[in-house]
Amino acid sequence: MLRTRVLGGPAEDNALWVVADSGQGQTRLLLDCGARVLDTLPFAEVQATDHLLLSHLHMDHVGGFDDFFRATFDRAAPTHAWGPPGTARILGHRFQGFWWNHAPELRGQWFVHDVHDAHVHSFRFEAQEAFAVAHDAGTRPHDGTILTTPEVHVQAVPLEHHGRSLGFILREESRERVNTAALAGLGLRPGPWLAALKGGATGDIDVNDQVHPADTLRAALMERATGESLAYLTDFLLDGEQQARLAPLLRGVQTLYAEAQYAPEDHALAARHEHTTVTQVAALAHAADVPALTLLHLSRRYRAEQWAEMLQAAKAIHPHTRFPDGWLAG
Ligand SMILES: [Zn+2]
Ligand SMILES: [Zn+2]
Repeated sequence: MLRTRVLGGPAEDNALWVVADSGQGQTRLLLDCGARVLDTLPFAEVQATDHLLLSHLHMDHVGGFDDFFRATFDRAAPTHAWGPPGTARILGHRFQGFWWNHAPELRGQWFVHDVHDAHVHSFRFEAQEAFAVAHDAGTRPHDGTILTTPEVHVQAVPLEHHGRSLGFILREESRERVNTAALAGLGLRPGPWLAALKGGATGDIDVNDQVHPADTLRAALMERATGESLAYLTDFLLDGEQQARLAPLLRGVQTLYAEAQYAPEDHALAARHEHTTVTQVAALAHAADVPALTLLHLSRRYRAEQWAEMLQAAKAIHPHTRFPDGWLAG
């Protein structure tokens, strides 16, 4: 499953925290890192975050980087940061912003990946070297998917934002699971034999002192479950051309997290700043048939009363639209 939490409040910097949990393992990912977004996350959870995915390097998306770095700079496991071209150069400066006189005792290792449209260029930084050298860790081509862990696949989606911004689509692999209704229907009690069946056992299997052919059991009991999926799109131009390009990429995605920077009447401003309006985002979710749209990244230009109007305008186009829990309270 993909457990998610929108960090930060309305008209504050926002980020999305995701734990991809297969039951056997977890991958933690932080999507963007604006000011104070980590305030409500336990330090140990931040420290266990393996991948920082940056949409782009505007201050409201990276202003909280020091807090992330403080928790992760010297982890035993490498930390990975991903972002558009220029990410390694800018994070390299952020790494340099401290007094590293204890560097020889450190062990942390960072990989920063500049994601270009068709290849990834990676750089390695060592805490022991006071993060002073951006070691070229090579380039590799990508077909959209930039990262695969046992729990999740991450696809980068190029976006226009007076330069390159990145959207991200996270998908779990589909998985074999036991159909519990079928299990009950056959009158079989769960036991270690189920793990053997999942593990690919062949021949006969002992099920609570009765012998059954594994193939028959597998056909009767195992089913493929579609994995969960989400997309995160922020700070991007969304005209008709971009909608036509993006909607097919979002097909099959269960939840879209997207910026709601501008009210519908401010579409000219949105276009000028290469941002979206709430109704443009709702139209994209509708065109892509995305079951759930969660809006974030609200502009400070609007009063709290206007947020509810913006939500209503989006819902008129795509009814399954919401703000994160608690945003409209009071
Ligand atoms: Zn922004
Ligand atoms: Zn921006």
